[in-house]
Amino acid sequence: MGDTLSYFVIGMGRSGSTVLGSLLARAVDGFYCGELHLLWQSWLADRLCTCGTSVRTCPVWGEVVPDVMRASKVSSVEVLATIQSRQMRDREVLLRPRWRDDVEHVALRRHTEEAVRRVAGTDVLVDTSHSAAVAYVAKCVAEALQFIHLVRDPRAVAFSSARPKHDPSMQAPMPSRSPMDAALRWMGVNLAAERLLRGVGEDTAARRLRYEDFVHDPTGSVPELALLNDVVVHPTGCPLIEHSIAGNPGRFQRDQPLRLDERWKSMPPSERRQVELITFPLMLRYGYPLRVSGSRDEPLPR
Ligand SMILES: [Zn+2]
Repeated sequence: MGDTLSYFVIGMGRSGSTVLGSLLARAVDGFYCGELHLLWQSWLADRLCTCGTSVRTCPVWGEVVPDVMRASKVSSVEVLATIQSRQMRDREVLLRPRWRDDVEHVALRRHTEEAVRRVAGTDVLVDTSHSAAVAYVAKCVAEALQFIHLVRDPRAVAFSSARPKHDPSMQAPMPSRSPMDAALRWMGVNLAAERLLRGVGEDTAARRLRYEDFVHDPTGSVPELALLNDVVVHPTGCPLIEHSIAGNPGRFQRDQPLRLDERWKSMPPSERRQVELITFPLMLRYGYPLRVSGSRDEPLPR
């Protein structure tokens, strides 16, 4: 293996990270992990990999997990899941003036990345774990790392979060959130991401990408992100099979057309205002207008 490189997508779920991660990995001939920090949980719950088999019998994860157990000198996946569960949370990233010494999680991350690179046969990983806390640990491990802070209009995230989604890899639907809960979480996640990116220093590349801009021009956005690291970009690169952990259920429906989802504009005005009231400082910072054409409370043209 030569020099290693990782791309890490931070931000709120339901913001298009699964599609972004998949396209980015294809473009840079890398391996798309999905949400790597959920590997142990996915293994214990016997969830499906995107390749269609159980994570336990998947040709990638079925080899990676025993490899990490050997490297970590533990006898069960439960131990790895317990270590992962002690990982700091995003709110700690937000509140702590200094990073705590996180040797245990850095070691687990290092062993996991090394195993994935070996089994997948690539130096380039793409992880869409979302969490700023997990991103911090990834930063401690990586030789070269690029953060992508992915943001989406919080009203769209709240609208999507309120609707349960069936995930073929899980027995139960993905959990839903109330608009207020989604809005508060959107603020927390994005503030933690900004706190992290302010603290990583200039040696780490970081780029903010709006979901709406990405969907408008995916073939333009992805090479632009990849080129920050001077890697060779393959516009048509496409693996036949993917092996990703967790993420949007849409990952099981390959090659779906990428379209801007604006169904949120039909949400009740009271719910929309609630979301705006909580999130407006960052909405304005990210360039989302408070008045939106096509929403239900917009006066009809005379
Ligand atoms: Zn697989």
